[in-house]
Amino acid sequence: MNKKFDYLIVGSGLFGSVFAHEAKKKGKTCLVIDKRNHLGGNVYCEKIEDINVHKYGAHIFHTNDKKIWDYVNSLVEFNRYTNSPVANYKGKLYNLPFNMNTFYQLWGVKTPEEAKNKIQEQIQDLNITNPSNLEEQALSLVGKDVYFKLIKGYTEKQWGRKATDLPAFIIKRLPVRFTYDNNYFNDNYQGIPIGGYNKLIDALLDGIETLTDVDYFENREDWNAKADKVVFTGRIDEYFGFKYGKLNYRSLKFETEILATDNFQGNAVVNYTDFETPYTRILEHKHFEFGNQKKTVVTKEYPQEWEEGKEPYYPVNDKDNNDLFDKYKELSKNESNVIFGGRLAEYKYYDMHQVIASALKKASDLI
Ligand code: FAD
Ligand code: UDP
Repeated sequence: MNKKFDYLIVGSGLFGSVFAHEAKKKGKTCLVIDKRNHLGGNVYCEKIEDINVHKYGAHIFHTNDKKIWDYVNSLVEFNRYTNSPVANYKGKLYNLPFNMNTFYQLWGVKTPEEAKNKIQEQIQDLNITNPSNLEEQALSLVGKDVYFKLIKGYTEKQWGRKATDLPAFIIKRLPVRFTYDNNYFNDNYQGIPIGGYNKLIDALLDGIETLTDVDYFENREDWNAKADKVVFTGRIDEYFGFKYGKLNYRSLKFETEILATDNFQGNAVVNYTDFETPYTRILEHKHFEFGNQKKTVVTKEYPQEWEEGKEPYYPVNDKDNNDLFDKYKELSKNESNVIFGGRLAEYKYYDMHQVIASALKKASDLI
């Protein structure tokens, strides 16, 4: 029987959209389905008060890979937004990531040498030679004061676990610098699509058939019958009927409000790094695009334990979950007609540029 499409793509996030775009370029036909009521996955923006609201949390595009930067810029123009979040610890403000501004605010030190000496003083009696968890990694990089004021509380509420039970790599995402530079990323390229992320998704999916509000699992056989191959970007454990058990995720709750002021906090992202404040950050969306609308829209981001029915935002890449994922990955090798990709199917803490790179590689290897 001739199937109608070459590819059924389950999930319209960046992985599915990039794969579909590449397939179309090579003359293949695709049907993209998503169970949400919109396209774009977690980069989707909702327009409120003429402001692009990052519905699933702050998304700042950054990459060091010129190919990826050129790729996204060929689809949509980016602005000059540079992420420089501010941390609020018990009412006092500190610059992020950890840099000379932060060290000056904490200790009054003015030179890199003074800052390094201060950190050295705070770590010398800890005897950490080979950091084996997030706490040890953070302490050995920045010392006790930064750790206790800016990392421990934020991290433990974000992940709902002790910092000693978390992998060290999570904190290595953040730069530590001995210059007065508040840029959150070290990458050469950074920005936000002018007009919001939906423009990027629209450009990727231009001319491709899409359906929203459809869950692949509700009618799996029918969907499979529509295409020769399936690209699956949902949860890999769900794909295999939880045969070995459920993978764990971290979820979030977003509380969004419109405020009758033009500027609430003067910055797109303010992190609340104490453990007691129940949210981790407040986003003020207009600042992602230098907006001058009359009102403003802010979102408080509350971390939550994931359970069925909530969005699985972050994979929990601890040893137990990674071992369980490896078992599903083994199973996936037997599915010769299915391509697994993206944050959920690869169970990886991917940023956008990494998801795009992964989709481009799979498309170039497999189509
Ligand atoms: P998703 O965007 O999750 O897309 C998967 C899609 O599949 C979803 O739309 C889902 O509805 C659909 N789906 C799942 N199961 C089914 C099913 N059974 N049937 C039909 N459809 C299904 N990255 C950055 O580079 N910079 C940032 O600043 C940044 N900030 C982030 C902040 C937060 C709070 C989060 C959660 C992530 C952030 N990221 C950031 C990461 C970024 O969101 C991801 O790398 C990227 O969006 C992942 O794309 P994806 O296609 O793999 O997954
Ligand atoms: N982090 C922290 N304090 C902060 C910001 C981040 O301790 O003010 C830690 C925390 O453990 C977090 C990790 O750094 O999970 C990575 O932060 P990032 O901002 O990259 O997280 P994401 O945007 O992916 O949620």
